[in-house]
Amino acid sequence: MPTTLLSQVDSSIGGKVAINTAYGKNQLGAFWPAQQVYITDIFLETLDARQVKAGMAEIIKIAPFSKGTLLQLLGAPEVPKILTLVEGAIRAKLEVIGNDWYEAKGGTRIGLNFGHTIGHALEKTAPELLHGEAVALGMLIELQLAQRLGEKTIPLEVIEKLLIKFSLPTQFHHYVNKERWSLFLEALLQDKKNEVNRIIFVVPGPEGKVKKLEINLLHLKSILF
Ligand SMILES: [Zn+2]
Repeated sequence: MPTTLLSQVDSSIGGKVAINTAYGKNQLGAFWPAQQVYITDIFLETLDARQVKAGMAEIIKIAPFSKGTLLQLLGAPEVPKILTLVEGAIRAKLEVIGNDWYEAKGGTRIGLNFGHTIGHALEKTAPELLHGEAVALGMLIELQLAQRLGEKTIPLEVIEKLLIKFSLPTQFHHYVNKERWSLFLEALLQDKKNEVNRIIFVVPGPEGKVKKLEINLLHLKSILF
C-alpha cells in the first residue's frame, strides 16, 4: 500500500524491490512483483505540498512515452483529479514496461530512467533536493544534452512548462555550481550504467520512442558550464 504520490505512480508498480546500502540508494535489489497494489488518495492528504510536487515529477517523466492521453491531461488548463493522474501514470508505466519485466538488455523498460542519470547524481550532490525534484532537473538537462548531440527529442519546452506549472525546480546551476562540479562528477561515475569517461542516459524521442544516448564527460562539462 504505497503512501506517497511518488510510490503510488512509480515505485510500487513494476516489480522492483530494493534497499539502500552505504554505497547508495537502491544498491541491492531484486524483481518481485506484488500480487496486489492498493492505492487510495486518503494517504496523499497527509503529505505536505512539496512531497506531492515531487511525486508529480515521476508522472511527468512517464507521460511522453505513453500513447495515452497523460501528456494532454497534464497540460490541460484544468488540472485533473489526482487519482486520474495516478491511474494515467500507472497505465503509462505498465505500457513502457511492456514485456520487459526483468529489464532485458535493449528492452523498453530503460525509458523509466529518463531524468534519472542526471537526477541520481544531483541527489547525491545536492542532498537538499527530494528525489522527484532531482528527476525534474535531470529531465531538463538530459533533453538539453540530447539536443546538443543533434538528436531529435520531444520539445524541451513541453517538459519545462509542466515543471513550472507544478512548481518543480528548473534551475540546475542553483544546485550544481562550479565548486560542486567534482562532487557531481563523482556521483555520476558511481552510477552502474555509466563508464569511465562517458555517461548513458535516455530521453523520449519525438514520438515518445525511447532513445538511449551517451555523452563523454568533457563534452558534458562544456555544455553545462
Ligand atoms: Zn525516480
